[in-house]
Amino acid sequence: MSFEGVRAALALTPDLVARSVRSVTPDAVRRLAPGVRALCFDIDGTITDYHAPAIEPPDAEHLRSFREAGFRTFVISNCYGERVEQVHRLFDPLVTAVFTPVDCVDPAVPGDHASRHRKPAPDMVLLAAARAGGADDPVRPDEVLVVGDQLLKDVAAARAAGARALLVPRLGQSDHLGVRLFQRPLEAVLRRLRGLPVRRPDWPDGLARPRS
Ligand SMILES: [Mg+2]
Repeated sequence: MSFEGVRAALALTPDLVARSVRSVTPDAVRRLAPGVRALCFDIDGTITDYHAPAIEPPDAEHLRSFREAGFRTFVISNCYGERVEQVHRLFDPLVTAVFTPVDCVDPAVPGDHASRHRKPAPDMVLLAAARAGGADDPVRPDEVLVVGDQLLKDVAAARAAGARALLVPRLGQSDHLGVRLFQRPLEAVLRRLRGLPVRRPDWPDGLARPRS
């Protein structure tokens, strides 16, 4: 990581925190994130356990409730390979659109590859903002709230896009190995430095602004 990268990581902080996505209501988003019109949800560790093959019915219903409340809703996931198809099958019926890095690949750009568009790149957030609005009613990035469990991926992508960010603790027990070994311990240090919740009991029950 470059010096600039370290400085950016040290400055990362979400606009909002919550103990779980399930504890966040559309009304609370309207109250604490006024002006937000679109929500971008990470999946693994946020809506489901890492690479879960199914979504719990109450979680599906909860996700759907945001769209029914008038928000444009998106799933933005760094997944690749076979998981892409699975993610579409699980989430297409629940949200406005599902995006994975491959959706950001520009065939006109030589050598463009899905891996360039993974969070913390802002691309999927910007694609969601573009899809959320119409030509005469564009949705600005700051009207988008990114919801995820990783400071260095989800919150960083939101910041890079100029969007707002809601951080939740990882849901479930599983994790990508590299993330578990390197990124999670670093994120715990960064959260401590920023005065963000660190241990499970520190996270607020519903949607809240961080105390720092
Ligand atoms: Mg995640």
